[in-house]
Amino acid sequence: MQARLEKQRLRAIFDLWLDHNTYENLPFTPLKEMAEIRFQVPITDTIVYCGAIDLLAQMKSTGHAVVVDIKTTRSMNRRWLRKWAMDTQVSGYVYAAKQHMPQVLGMIIGVIELPDPKVSKSKCKVHGVPYTECDLFHANFHWIGPILRSDAQLESWRRTMVQQARRYSSLHKKALDCKGKKGIENVLKLPQEGMFTEIEYVNSCVSCELSNFCEADRPTHMASNYLAHQPWFCFPEMIKDMPNPLAQGEPNA
Ligand code: SF4
Ligand SMILES: [Zn+2]
Repeated sequence: MQARLEKQRLRAIFDLWLDHNTYENLPFTPLKEMAEIRFQVPITDTIVYCGAIDLLAQMKSTGHAVVVDIKTTRSMNRRWLRKWAMDTQVSGYVYAAKQHMPQVLGMIIGVIELPDPKVSKSKCKVHGVPYTECDLFHANFHWIGPILRSDAQLESWRRTMVQQARRYSSLHKKALDCKGKKGIENVLKLPQEGMFTEIEYVNSCVSCELSNFCEADRPTHMASNYLAHQPWFCFPEMIKDMPNPLAQGEPNA
């Protein structure tokens, strides 16, 4: 367990976040019964887009309906904050929410920083006490957005997503049955494309859960040491089955 994720420390930081984000201080009004929405949105006859939306809400400043997403990160640096403006999850969740509530225009992201604990005994210039005493107050909180998505952007996301889903499906079939052979050894026939998507120091492999397996040159004879069998499951509820609180006029938060 990393020290920064120790249970008591997490609880203390989340308590601070709640103190900062009282109902009055939130930039939006939560919509009633619109928290933790698991959705499945049919995209084509064979592709269903699934996810879980933290919350739907209405911005206090503009009245826009938005998806609210809460994220944690070790370090809330400028590059990390900026990446969400062009993030595919933002487009996908706005697309999904819009199928249920057409008024949704974008997403607002609440960020909770969970940094490594400060161990230095030297005095903090901000708080005037040793860093070990003000450590928790160095966890930053921030709201990103709302990040808006136009209809054209959402349609572009949908088209790209369909292309990618078809590609992944064909790779999956290839891995299942390659030249008559069946089994895990077929993954060796698949390209390691994550290695080609480097953006400065961030690439797909760094955050990929298969990275240990790939780093070891995909030792298929020891696959069970690296990989866990986790069958994919589908969320049971359909977002379309949920009521649209904005359809009746005022939000009933
Ligand atoms: S670590 Fe992940 S992203 Fe990188 S090549 Fe392997 S499977 Fe692809
Ligand atoms: Zn301090």
